[in-house]
Amino acid sequence: MSKHIRTRSVHSGEEKDREYRGIPPAIALTSTYFFKNVDELQRHKDQTEPRQEYGRYHNPTRAVAERKLADLEGAEDAIVCSSGMYALTVTLMRILKPGDHLLILDEMYHRTQDLCAFVLTRFGVEVSVVKSGSLDSLRSSIKENTRLFLFETPTNPHLYVQDLESIAALCKERKVKTLADATFASPVNLLPLKFGIDIVVHSCTKYLAGHNDVMAGVILSRRSIIESIRELHFTIGGTLDAHSCYLLIRGLKTLPLRIAHQNASAEAIAAFLVAQPGIEKVFYPSLSTHPNVEIAKRQMAGFGGVISFDLGSAERAKQFVDALSIPYIAPSLGGAESLVIPYSVVVPPSPKEVESGIFAIEPGLVRLSVGFEDREDLVDDLSHALKTL
Ligand SMILES: *Cc1c(COP(=O)(O)O)cnc(C)c1O
Repeated sequence: MSKHIRTRSVHSGEEKDREYRGIPPAIALTSTYFFKNVDELQRHKDQTEPRQEYGRYHNPTRAVAERKLADLEGAEDAIVCSSGMYALTVTLMRILKPGDHLLILDEMYHRTQDLCAFVLTRFGVEVSVVKSGSLDSLRSSIKENTRLFLFETPTNPHLYVQDLESIAALCKERKVKTLADATFASPVNLLPLKFGIDIVVHSCTKYLAGHNDVMAGVILSRRSIIESIRELHFTIGGTLDAHSCYLLIRGLKTLPLRIAHQNASAEAIAAFLVAQPGIEKVFYPSLSTHPNVEIAKRQMAGFGGVISFDLGSAERAKQFVDALSIPYIAPSLGGAESLVIPYSVVVPPSPKEVESGIFAIEPGLVRLSVGFEDREDLVDDLSHALKTL
């Protein structure tokens, strides 16, 4: 961790001693590895000669991606796997057993909520919800059988930022493990392990690969935890192929450059949006109106490329999004191309919310992921779309 992240993102995890003298790491296309004779196989099975055996367990290209990501996150070890959802699933499966109690945050990616509420509960895991930003809510939710607190920071879609130091201290005292999905931050902006969080998960599909072309996930922690998760991972699969690992490595080389650009563009665009009439509220962690601005500024080196804003109604959000010309209308975030979605179309309000008129997510909320385009061009496009309302 001695060199700057811009140096480490290019070089770390890559062996200088290669089979041939190419600059980029090789894409190791093999699903299995041969043994010279049965004795060699026997020595491997007796674990006197550790080496690669089969593609689900080991791949040299994947190993480069794992070493690089572990270095960037300041983790002892990493598992690169097939998606962000798989990374969460295998981690939760390894830590929890029937009868255990899991705490989750009240705002998270909707599939993560589904995984906890509908899948883990079928396997006898008890799940309770903790209020974002409330240490009291966390403290009073911890029970005798509470094993783990799973949360995002910043959250999707309101970009709420959690106070990692306080969460880690409280959970350590109560012997509850902490698992942070830090996809929206990336290791350039936030290093949760430094604040005492036990395990970090990212959807590499977003900023880490960064080009809207790969699906991948990563789990990062100290060696003992990663080794115990890896055992289960080797059994249930969720393997990432060498081509995707290569694209992830290639993406990581430019990660700090891309994030610096996206941070700066999103801050400028958030400031522009705040000043526009017809927008009820803008959510971006560095805005003085954001509920977690102080924690965000204390913890984070930058605030990411996602901005959410409320246009007041679902109809206005739809009209605005249709009037934009640069961003694609698509879920996901963090890549080269700006992406935009009217959030309530993707995650519709529940019948209870419609009946009560009290929504967890504002019907007029638009989520914008700022890409690598010129920020003046994006501001012009947003400005034009706002004028059509
Ligand atoms: C996208 C996303 C996931 C899921 O990751 P996939 O790579 O799509 O499986 C999990 N958490 C957050 C915060 C995400 O944005």
